[in-house]
Amino acid sequence: MRLSGGVSAALGALGALGVSLAPTVAHARALRIQNAQSVPTICPYCAVGCGMIAHTINNQIVNIEGNPDSPVNEGNLCPKGAASYQLAVNERRWTTVKYRAPNSDHWEDRPLDWAMDRIAQLLKQTRDDTFQERTADGSRTLMNTTAIFSLGGATINNEWNYAHSKLMRGLGIVAIENQARI
Ligand code: SF4
Repeated sequence: MRLSGGVSAALGALGALGVSLAPTVAHARALRIQNAQSVPTICPYCAVGCGMIAHTINNQIVNIEGNPDSPVNEGNLCPKGAASYQLAVNERRWTTVKYRAPNSDHWEDRPLDWAMDRIAQLLKQTRDDTFQERTADGSRTLMNTTAIFSLGGATINNEWNYAHSKLMRGLGIVAIENQARI
């Protein structure tokens, strides 16, 4: 607090002297991304789906900012979206899956690939165990299961949503929903 107060006071004093730091800040920012590749992407946090630009150097993210070409946010990001660089580049980020086995009282670290296989196996098993070809009295064709629910996220794009809904309907899943409601 003392340090930030001192910095604010110093900046205030410079401002009072008519010295603008805006060009210096803009120059420093330009230097940081001048050799970077720009990759359009979507904020992973909420259903608004703000457009972002990720700057990368040697496949490493060095900066993320709002995409001015996005009709959704026109370059603006909320504080959470503006901090998404720290989501992508963070040595404290978990890279394993937390798994608690049935009847276990503790969590275990498992690789992501293991979790993907486990989900696929359970999906197949549940679908096979609960698939209904006809109503109980046999009067109507069903060909579905109501034991599985699919919830999509806001960052799933049109093409992914299309392929995902085809997969879900192909499995006979009828409860399909998406977080994005805009
Ligand atoms: S920047 Fe904020 S409002 Fe926009 S999608 Fe991300 S979390 Fe949502």
